[in-house]
Amino acid sequence: MVGLVGCTEEPVYHSSFFAFGTLVELTVRSADRDRVQQAEALLVREFEAMHQALTLHTDSPLLRLNQVLETGGTAVADALVLELIRVSRPYYQRSGGLFNPALGRLVREWGFHEEDGGAVPTPERLQAYVTNPPGMEHLLVEGTQVYSTHAALWLDFGGIAKGYALEQLGDRLREMGLRQLILNAGGDLRVLGRNGARAWCVGIRDPRQVGQVIASVAVEDDESVFTSGDYERYFMQAGVRYHHILDPKTARPATGVTSVTVIHRQATLADAAATAIFVAGLEGWQRVSAALGVEQVMLVDEQGRMHATPAMRARLLRGVCEGELQ
Ligand code: AMP
Ligand code: MG
Repeated sequence: MVGLVGCTEEPVYHSSFFAFGTLVELTVRSADRDRVQQAEALLVREFEAMHQALTLHTDSPLLRLNQVLETGGTAVADALVLELIRVSRPYYQRSGGLFNPALGRLVREWGFHEEDGGAVPTPERLQAYVTNPPGMEHLLVEGTQVYSTHAALWLDFGGIAKGYALEQLGDRLREMGLRQLILNAGGDLRVLGRNGARAWCVGIRDPRQVGQVIASVAVEDDESVFTSGDYERYFMQAGVRYHHILDPKTARPATGVTSVTVIHRQATLADAAATAIFVAGLEGWQRVSAALGVEQVMLVDEQGRMHATPAMRARLLRGVCEGELQ
């Protein structure tokens, strides 16, 4: 933890650690160093617990649940998984199935998360998902028991878990009395309060220029900023980029867009919406944004052009801050 003392304002503490498969950073203004240290310990502990519950890369309760579902069996899901199923359903419905956490098996077949990069599944495998896609309607919950009526249904909360985590943990930090902070997990973030006398200012990544900012926004109290990008996880094959955000209609990586940024007060919605709007692409993004109730959306298309809703454009044009890349 590094502290920087200014003259009149409370000092800024900065700490970072690796959790949730990504770099988590806490930047906080507080006069109470001990409290910041407690917050950091809480974040390390809670992010790790969520990661252990939800990872699909190593043995985990979610992986075991998926394996039972696949055989047509019934399994008891843990509280976090039940909660994410509950929270995901309305986003699945409102996005017309574009945000689909039941596609975990397809994500696995593409292998984006594999060390050696993954491979394009055979046309027969892809066609099977297009003809008969698993969806959240195939997942039945009774109390803590879960079962599936679709043999290819695997749960994967990669498109929403970070939002859920930032929403829960941001609330916990506020309850601890920390009121001015940025909690950033791999470029997705939640803000509380202000940076002393100013708003917190964050940079939005340029999807094609590593380390460059394409726009900056002054983020207000209790807003979250989530970006889905084709640069986050992908593999290259014969000069083609195969990235990790799949279009349920084609069973292939969604096309037309390279990044989508959503600002909203609910981090969970911002996360799910960024993923869904990415899939909706250039032709559907406005419709899906409206259906999900998100008003502040920016996207970059494959030609590098920026598009934004009026509410987002107004913020970007105000140009009130020079954001550092978060
Ligand atoms: P995000 O970076 O929030 O857009 O999440 C991307 C991750 O969500 C991927 O790595 C997959 O684990 C998962 N995913 C991929 N396609 C979808 C989809 N259409 N709906 C929901 N989750 C998806
Ligand atoms: Mg997302």
